[in-house]
Amino acid sequence: MGRFESLGRPGPPGIHFPIRKRKSRMNRITHAVLLLILPLLTVGCGTAPSTSTRGDTEPQTTQPPAIEPVPAVFNSGSRSDRFIEHVADNSQHLTRLTPGYIYERLHHREGSEAISDAFDRMLVADVPDAHRALIDALELDFIHDPATSSLDLLNYELRVHFSEFDWHDDDYPGGPEGPNEALADIMVDALDIVRPERRANRSRTAVIRRANVNDDIWTYMLDQWKPVPGEGKWKLNRFAAEAYVRMREAAAADGVTLKIKSGHRDPKQAQAGAARAGNRFAVASFSSHSLGLAVDFELPRADGDGTFNITTRPMSSVVAMRTSPVHKWLHLRGEAFGWYPFQHEPWHWEFNPDGFRGVFFAEFPGGAPELDPVFE
Ligand SMILES: [Zn+2]
Repeated sequence: MGRFESLGRPGPPGIHFPIRKRKSRMNRITHAVLLLILPLLTVGCGTAPSTSTRGDTEPQTTQPPAIEPVPAVFNSGSRSDRFIEHVADNSQHLTRLTPGYIYERLHHREGSEAISDAFDRMLVADVPDAHRALIDALELDFIHDPATSSLDLLNYELRVHFSEFDWHDDDYPGGPEGPNEALADIMVDALDIVRPERRANRSRTAVIRRANVNDDIWTYMLDQWKPVPGEGKWKLNRFAAEAYVRMREAAAADGVTLKIKSGHRDPKQAQAGAARAGNRFAVASFSSHSLGLAVDFELPRADGDGTFNITTRPMSSVVAMRTSPVHKWLHLRGEAFGWYPFQHEPWHWEFNPDGFRGVFFAEFPGGAPELDPVFE
């Protein structure tokens, strides 16, 4: 049993994150996220989990604790150990997996033939194709590993803190007030740093904002809807539908099934529903779903046992949704197809690639309407 022994799961090794000892190359994102979270870790929450699992697996002894041995990577000097460090430190242009995650997974690669083979090939020939193949193997393993979560795209301390935090059922921001909604917001902000949102209906990335919509624009947008091939119950903007189908095929090739739980929402029906619900702002009428640019995905559980209920309560379930292979796949590979997260809702993704506003309005008389400079 190694010093990085796992969290006691049976089967092939998955995540074995100790805190990494070396800090010289912690990336800037980690620093930024730590700045966000440190006050909470030290003042508010009081449930920061242990950062070591070593005590669970080593025999108890009455001897005084031995001085920790220097990790093998520092004293062995073996080529493969140095190469692991090289790969961990030089893969950020290829993946959102963190250097810390890559480092630990490669040190425990023996449980995955795909990772071991790709690593050996890159060790023989450190060329871009071999590097890409190794990252692909690491990402696929990550996506299908029930022990991983999209929170692992943060650093290890934050992942453990958010996933093991004793959330109150009502901590999802909005609705019945929970005591830790501020922490839920920070979790989302941290995720937004590593996997930014590009909201289609608000912020500076919007295709169109509520303040700028008129009847002509609504008519144009609805004319752009088309049924999603293979899931014809749902419609999307024609560009979103085309990209979605390509994305669904790519995910299927990776063993991940993308399935729409909810797609378009007719703005008139949504408006009427919002009115019936006494929502005088009729917020529902201007969801990205009403633009045909949003999908709520079914989120299968990582252990294969059914799907998550799409709900904002309890908060612990919303956090656990990030272990779904669908959510992890979208986080790592959705951007290549123009799909972006709404980090508060792990199930909700929006189509809004860079430059899409111009494409969306290409056939609208006069082109894309001016956006009100005031952001919502
Ligand atoms: Zn949604």
